[in-house]
Amino acid sequence: MTNTGTTTKATTGAEGSATAGSPNTPVEVRNPASGELAGTVVFASREEVAADVAALRAAQPAWEAIGPRGRKEWLLKLQDWVVDNAEELADTIQAESGKTRIDARVEVAFTVDQLGYWARNAAKFLAEQHPAPHTPLMRVKRLATVYKPYAVVGIITPWNFPLGMGIADVVPALAAGAAVMHKPSEVTPLTPLVLARGWAEIGAPPVLSVVSGAGETGAAVIENVDYVQFTGSVPTGRRIGVKCAEQMTPYSLELGGKDPAIVLSDADLDRAAYGIAYGALVNTGQLCISIERVYVEAPVYDEFLAKLVAHVKELRQGRDDRSNSFDLGPLANQAQLDIVTRHVEEAVAAGAKVLTGGKAFGPGTFFEPTVLVDVDHTMSCIVEETFGPTIPVMKVADEAEAIRLANDSIFGLSASVWTGNRSRGQRVARLINAGAVNINDSVINLFNPSIPHGGWGQSGTGYRWGGASGLRKYCRVQAITAPSM
Ligand code: NAD
Repeated sequence: MTNTGTTTKATTGAEGSATAGSPNTPVEVRNPASGELAGTVVFASREEVAADVAALRAAQPAWEAIGPRGRKEWLLKLQDWVVDNAEELADTIQAESGKTRIDARVEVAFTVDQLGYWARNAAKFLAEQHPAPHTPLMRVKRLATVYKPYAVVGIITPWNFPLGMGIADVVPALAAGAAVMHKPSEVTPLTPLVLARGWAEIGAPPVLSVVSGAGETGAAVIENVDYVQFTGSVPTGRRIGVKCAEQMTPYSLELGGKDPAIVLSDADLDRAAYGIAYGALVNTGQLCISIERVYVEAPVYDEFLAKLVAHVKELRQGRDDRSNSFDLGPLANQAQLDIVTRHVEEAVAAGAKVLTGGKAFGPGTFFEPTVLVDVDHTMSCIVEETFGPTIPVMKVADEAEAIRLANDSIFGLSASVWTGNRSRGQRVARLINAGAVNINDSVINLFNPSIPHGGWGQSGTGYRWGGASGLRKYCRVQAITAPSM
């Protein structure tokens, strides 16, 4: 680790070769919208990761000792830095992901919000608890619950939010008093390095390290840290869970989703069409909680579909840069484009109809926003995570069928219910197997750290956020008893 507290194993100039990821070999990062070189990184070796974690471990006690109020000052300084450098952060996000300006700006705004929330609430959330003795026997005891941070938390993140995905966990872990090693995706490694530079520029203690690399570097992180916070795909998450269990390292897995939306016949159909299009297509559908299947009660099916298709047809897609002219960008890479293309082609081959979109186009890895009908639960577009701009829509007979189909999935990340009847919305929400349900809204749960964000089923184990529990998860809990006199 450098003495600035960050591992800046990347350059953002045009250098290096296109191949390999072995230590000391520069790896290029390219904009998927244009093919332009965004920067290069060098993957960290196992030895470098181990050395960085050792340095973090040495720095952490002082970070813990300044307490939540001392840490608040540094987090708020970083918040100021993010505001001052918002354009550079948004530029870097766009350069490595190709996403639209508005989607990049949302990540920066989210970062500012997270820094403020955890900085301001940490002292309250980490305060010792003094439960009342609940039995006559314990009346003569004083009880305390104490939260002591893990020394080093390892955070491994995917590529869909180059800045936001790391921030969602890095900030609460730092606020809890842990030192953090962050390994972002090898697809989008550049923006976290800009943030790490910011941490160094404000002169903060050396308790944040960002390393570049793919699975091998991630595995080295897991071997060295005291808690693993992983966000990514189900197969990788499963491997990491097994490895953590073998090591007895505590962990939390935030994995994929296949979020259903249920449109009931009493819904405001304009709101439902707009909200579902947004929830399915924001970030070009590359969002763990994006809407990936829609169930509509038969009486309003035709009208809803007409509104949805009309709205989707109005959306603009292209290479945005700073123009703010587009609603959708490209997919992150060719592998992601291949998955989306396969899901649409397989559905069409099995009898589905494309009402709008349906094609890939270039240059760049673009796929049109696509509405599919005549789909069913035998098709990959309904059962597998697509992570792209597709909206498969099914007609259902009634509420009971909608709930049954919504729950017919290995995933359970989040869901939405669209209805004009508040109590019906609340009732249906409680019948859906998912970690979050939005009523008459989509994806809104992602913007509120005071509620938990986690998946049921194969969508993960554990939760991030949820107010106090969002900090306490990065702590070991200690119970202390003492005689009361
Ligand atoms: P991925 O599983 O391929 O990679 C995620 C991260 O794990 C990357 O940083 C990668 O380098 C690292 N990695 C890969 N193999 C590893 C190993 N053996 N040991 C340690 N680290 C390893 O996922 P992806 O394609 O980058 O991301 C897309 C997935 O992420 C989707 O399934 C999406 O739903 C999910 N996601 C979930 C959430 C959530 O909060 N639940 C949020 C965003 C994305």
